[in-house]
Amino acid sequence: MRLPFRIFRCGACNYDMRYGTSTCRYCFKETPLRNRLWMPPLVAAMAIGLVMAVA
Ligand SMILES: [Zn+2]
Repeated sequence: MRLPFRIFRCGACNYDMRYGTSTCRYCFKETPLRNRLWMPPLVAAMAIGLVMAVA
């Protein structure tokens, strides 16, 4: 089973990037701040884990 890594595209060159990177690996343009934060997927994973533990 593969982990569902979040992928987002660079706004400048449409290059697929993994969630959490600060710059595009292809054109080195800085990504939006929200793409650099690991917190959303981390919080989501923790919430899912909590639900699984309770249920
Ligand atoms: Zn790019």
